[in-house]
Amino acid sequence: MQQFQQYIGGVFSNGSATFESMDPATGTPWALMPEAKTEDVNAAVKAARDAFFAPEWAMMTASARGKLLLRLADLIADNAETLAKLETRDTGKIIRETSAQIAYVAEYYRYYAGLADKIEGAHLPIDKPDMDVWLRREPVGVVAAVVPWNSQLFLSAVKVGPALAAGCTVVLKASEDGPAPMLEFARIFDQAGFPAGVLNIITGFGAECGAVLTSHPDVDHVAFTGGPETARHIVRNSAENLASTSLELGGKSPFIVFDDADIDSAVNAQISGIFAATGQSCVAGSRLIISNRIKDVFLERLKAKAEAIVIGAPDDMTTEVGPLCTVGQVDTATQLCAASEAAGATIITGGTPLKRAGTYFPPTIIDCSDVPQAPCVTTEIFGPVLSLLSFDTEAEALRLANDTVFGLASGVFTKDLTRAHRMIRGIRAGIVWVNTYRAVSPIAPFGGHGLSGHGREGGLQAALDYTKVKSVWLRTSDDPIPDPFVMR
Ligand code: NAD
Repeated sequence: MQQFQQYIGGVFSNGSATFESMDPATGTPWALMPEAKTEDVNAAVKAARDAFFAPEWAMMTASARGKLLLRLADLIADNAETLAKLETRDTGKIIRETSAQIAYVAEYYRYYAGLADKIEGAHLPIDKPDMDVWLRREPVGVVAAVVPWNSQLFLSAVKVGPALAAGCTVVLKASEDGPAPMLEFARIFDQAGFPAGVLNIITGFGAECGAVLTSHPDVDHVAFTGGPETARHIVRNSAENLASTSLELGGKSPFIVFDDADIDSAVNAQISGIFAATGQSCVAGSRLIISNRIKDVFLERLKAKAEAIVIGAPDDMTTEVGPLCTVGQVDTATQLCAASEAAGATIITGGTPLKRAGTYFPPTIIDCSDVPQAPCVTTEIFGPVLSLLSFDTEAEALRLANDTVFGLASGVFTKDLTRAHRMIRGIRAGIVWVNTYRAVSPIAPFGGHGLSGHGREGGLQAALDYTKVKSVWLRTSDDPIPDPFVMR
């Protein structure tokens, strides 16, 4: 079996222990991963701490940091094929998606390369005549970045890019599921020319590796992407080190279609909104909220498209939906579909795992319009399962859209401009896509409300979030400071 290595202080090693990684397409182990135990985590944080204060990094100009990030972006682009193949092999994400996504990951590093020397301080018009006061924006320190298994290269780029642009150092914990692309990324990062320890990449299990890292006394900020339950652990862990946190969590995003929408366009967007990444996407438009006036025609076209989706091996360029990453994901989807059906929902298509080797679950549509509190509607499934709700009025559509503990993304399909604006204003979510879905860019912030977390990734603000402001007071008078205890 291929052995992958962790990357600490610029050195590759096998880690204190190893664990097997499963190929989701076959359900069999294919590679050995380095399992970071407490001592590895401590070594990684020490390497990051040392690198943070070392002059090679601490004294490096922002422009020079930007140039290193640019070189990294070029290396990612050059190695995109290798990274894409590894992500496909280890997570089951289909090759046509990993290829496109990794090419775009390079753009995130380019964007943050450009921002490195644009993170500016300020000068304050202070209310004292003999003082000059200004603000320096300084890196927050050592960042613990913790990512889930889906789209790890992408989800780490939105943390590592701004953190390094701001001058932080990072310990990145890859998910224990599908860590191969991140460990290969370490080899690419190593060629970019950053000082040793600026980025350290480890993997391991949440209970030890994740918990030790996020509660470590030498960690200053925790940037987390994953589920809300794990986020609660992260926040509790941060009670130890009082690190700041940014949390990008799950979603149950509404996809609202009004009766004046372009139906074919909306159907295509809904297909990609829920079935892209085999539904394993935090922004999946997993709650279709459809006008009763077009429900039947929309559903007919949607069902036909869903049933025509090519399900197959993730490394086949013709595959449109591949396996889920883990057996647990299949079990979750199966149980939630069964529970929703038992509660009165109607399965339109799919609903049970495919009878073939690997972790395959088919594109599923489940009509929950009579049971809007069915488990499929309220719970994030993280699989290819679309729950359908229907409405008669705009107010009802908005109420259903906001009837969730999450608030990450949303989609609105309508040709009515004023209605679109009312929906944009009314929906409680970090993203509203109007007559489109799933568009992302390094330039646009990304993040949620409620159980979808807090903080934003992407855009200038994300880089500023990796800084702290230092107030500098400089006395401009040459007059001696009088003795404070001599009465005048
Ligand atoms: P998860 O929460 O189970 O795990 C995420 C990471 O946290 C893993 O690296 C895991 O090892 C680590 N972890 C687990 N327990 C920990 C602990 N006690 N302390 C510290 N770290 C710990 O998530 P998952 O199942 O791998 O991924 C799916 C979830 O991620 C979904 O909820 C999905 O919506 C969310 N997600 C969100 C976004 C976003 O940008 N908002 C993007 C992708 C995925």
